[in-house]
Amino acid sequence: MRILLVEDEPAIAQVVLHALRADGFEAVHCLTGGEALAAARGQAFDLAVLDVGLPDIGGFALCRELRRERDLPVIFLTAQDAEADRILGLEIGADDYVTKPFSPRELVARVRVVLRRLHAPAAREDGGFVHDADGHRIRYRGRTLDLTRYEYGLLAALLQRPGAVLSRAQLMDRVWGDALESGDRTVDTHIKTLRAKLREVAPDADPIRTHRGLGYSLDGGA
Ligand code: CA
Repeated sequence: MRILLVEDEPAIAQVVLHALRADGFEAVHCLTGGEALAAARGQAFDLAVLDVGLPDIGGFALCRELRRERDLPVIFLTAQDAEADRILGLEIGADDYVTKPFSPRELVARVRVVLRRLHAPAAREDGGFVHDADGHRIRYRGRTLDLTRYEYGLLAALLQRPGAVLSRAQLMDRVWGDALESGDRTVDTHIKTLRAKLREVAPDADPIRTHRGLGYSLDGGA
């Protein structure tokens, strides 16, 4: 397993590298986002550990760039609670995060957990979908979908019961709860953008079915 570590403080990077290598990981260290993007072009990584506060493009933007071409699990290193809040609140799709100061052993343990979770056969795979419920991420045919909160909610609800028709009201209830935004159009609008994102990955497959007057279902599945 090859890990990409992007950390601009050499002292922190050294202890993390040491801990990763002592645990049998191959680890590559970059000081900046730019360096990391160059490294990722030349080789594939199984997971990235990204410092949020980098001197050039920043950990969040770097995460997006690194995931543009292929799926990559990411653990963030944060310096402040505010950063952790952003990871949890936004749709960055982090697999985990560790707040500084941290023990390198703990970080390595988290790396193991994330890798195990993603490679576990327990991850449900239905019609090319892999739902990582803990990480609030859905992969489709090997690519992590870049979904809004509502698109994610809709797809997760459909994935829970492949083949079953869910009415707009059921989907509304599951995904929007008691949010103010409501109406059948809301579900339809987000299904439309969700479909477009699925088509980007697999242009010929259209796994979401419309049942006129009833609702939606998801094809395939175990
Ligand atoms: Ca930093």
